[in-house]
Amino acid sequence: MKKKWLIGNWKMHGNLASNKALVGGILAAVPSLHEQVSIAVCPPFPYLYQLAELTRDTYLGFGAQNVSDHLQGAYTGETSPLMVKELGGSYAIIGHSERRQYQGENDGLMGRKALAAIDAGLIPVICVGETAEERDSGRTHEVLARQLDAAFGYIRTAHDKIILAYEPRWAIGTGIAATPEIVQSEHEFLRQRIAIRDKAFAAKLPIVYGGSVKSSNAASIFSMPDVDGGLIGSAALNAQEFVTIYGELLKAIVPANS
Ligand code: PEP
Repeated sequence: MKKKWLIGNWKMHGNLASNKALVGGILAAVPSLHEQVSIAVCPPFPYLYQLAELTRDTYLGFGAQNVSDHLQGAYTGETSPLMVKELGGSYAIIGHSERRQYQGENDGLMGRKALAAIDAGLIPVICVGETAEERDSGRTHEVLARQLDAAFGYIRTAHDKIILAYEPRWAIGTGIAATPEIVQSEHEFLRQRIAIRDKAFAAKLPIVYGGSVKSSNAASIFSMPDVDGGLIGSAALNAQEFVTIYGELLKAIVPANS
């Protein structure tokens, strides 16, 4: 059985008190983790140190929502993946659609950031996904292929610590998740596209889905064979919701009747 992943993207939310309550709520509700699952949360940069403290000696991992494509240098306002790593972080979300939309990030930058994250010892969570307009005009696969090829033009498929996230932009923060059938079909497409480069790597690559996952739709999405977990936005800000989503992920590993 392949491992499953649950990653919370807190976006630009939180403060010292609410972060503490949120992490405390998760750890209280899930004191120990199923061995085949990894859970992490990605707070805004200023709270990484707090997360390092709050998650010390627990199973809960943490990461950044973005990193620089450089490891060090005169890049004012940027954060090196090495700094995230030094604080004990394990992950970096790369190429999130909100960064593409509001910060002008492009495919090439995503690839360079993924490479920098890997070089720093972080696991990049590489986000790909089409807009509503791209889907409606039948260009979803063209866009996904372009984004994937750009990222994998920089990183090596031999590296076994990479997570791919299918995050259709039209499903992010809209409350309208992709149907389980769409998720499965696009995950399958992504896996096949990677398999052109490296079949064994493609089979092992974790592909998680993100876009309006909540406790009410998590089960149907996680039950799809090519879904290896979730990248959760808004629902990750509520401990009860996040923990219930974790419970649905567990059911995908251990069916109720087994
Ligand atoms: C995200 O920000 O990565 C995300 C999936 O957001 P939401 O779950 O709120 O759609």
